[in-house]
Amino acid sequence: MLAVFGHLNPDTDAITAALVYAHLLTRQGVQAQAYRLGELNFETAFVLREAGMQAPALLPELPAGTAVALVDHNESAQSAPNLSELNVTRVVDHHKLGDLTTTQPPYLRFEPVGCTGTILLKLHREAGLEVDVLDARLMLSAILSDTLHFRSPTTTADDQDAVAFLAPVAGIEDVETYALAMFAAKSDLGDTPAETLLRMDYKVFPFGHPGAPQQWGIGVIETTNPAYVFGRQAELLRAMDAVKAEDGLNGVLLSVVDILNGTNRTLVLSATEEKVLREAFGASAGEQVADLGARISRKKQIVPALEEYFNQA
Ligand code: MN
Ligand code: MN
Repeated sequence: MLAVFGHLNPDTDAITAALVYAHLLTRQGVQAQAYRLGELNFETAFVLREAGMQAPALLPELPAGTAVALVDHNESAQSAPNLSELNVTRVVDHHKLGDLTTTQPPYLRFEPVGCTGTILLKLHREAGLEVDVLDARLMLSAILSDTLHFRSPTTTADDQDAVAFLAPVAGIEDVETYALAMFAAKSDLGDTPAETLLRMDYKVFPFGHPGAPQQWGIGVIETTNPAYVFGRQAELLRAMDAVKAEDGLNGVLLSVVDILNGTNRTLVLSATEEKVLREAFGASAGEQVADLGARISRKKQIVPALEEYFNQA
C-alpha cells in the first residue's frame, strides 16, 4: 500500500491532493492510501464538511523503506520526519525542487502552476479517466485556496481552465460565492492559540551557502479579517519568539495577507528580521509591522527574494 501525503501544517491543497491522488492511483491499479501530516485548518475542515468527506488519517510512523508518494511538497523540512529512510516513488508538486533524493527512479510530475489540483486534473484527463463529483470538488477547492480565487500572482491560465472545467462537474454554480465561504471559514479563527495560528500555514526554509547556512520559519495567515489578527499582534510576536528559540531558527516571519485587498503586512520579531526585510524587500518596519505591499505569495514573491538575498550575503 502506497502512502500518499502532502506537507506538514497541511493546507487545503496538501489534504485534497493526497485524497485525490490516492484515489486516482487506486483507479489505475496502484493501491494507495491518503494521509495527513497535521491538523486540518479551518478552511480545509469546511471543504471536507461541505463535501461530506472524512479527513485522511494522521500519518503513522512508517518503517524504513516504505513506498510513499509526495504531493504539494518535495522538501524534507516540510515532510515526514524520517523521509530520508522512505522510498519516494512518486511526487506531484508545483513548488521549487528542494533537497529531494530517491533510491529508485521515481515518477515525477512538476509544473509551475498555481496548485497541485490543477496538475491532478491533467493526470485524470491524460489517463482518459472521468472526474467524479467529489474529486472535482476537492480539486476545485484546492485551486481556489492556493490561488485565492485567482488573486494570487501564482495563478496561471491552466488553473483558470481547470476551475472552468471542474465547477460544473462539482455542481458548484457560483464559484466566487463558494470561494468567499471558504475564505470566511479560514478567517474565523476564534480563540485559536497564537502558536497554532503561527504554525497553521508555516514552512521552514534553508537559505544561504553551505558556509553560512540559515533556517527561516515563514508563516502566512491569509484572512479576510486582518484587523482580528493585528488585534493579537503581541501574542503572535511572543509565539514567534518562542518558536524561533525552540526550533533554533535564524529568523521567523509571519505574513498577514489580506485576501480581498491583496496586501501583505508582515510581523517583525527583532532587528534581525527587520534588517533582512529592509535589505531584501526595501520594506521598513514601524510598530513591528513591515508593509510588503502586494507580495502575497510566499512561494513566488517572498522565498525567491530571500534566497537571492542570502546567496549574496
Ligand atoms: Mn500547500
Ligand atoms: Mn499547493
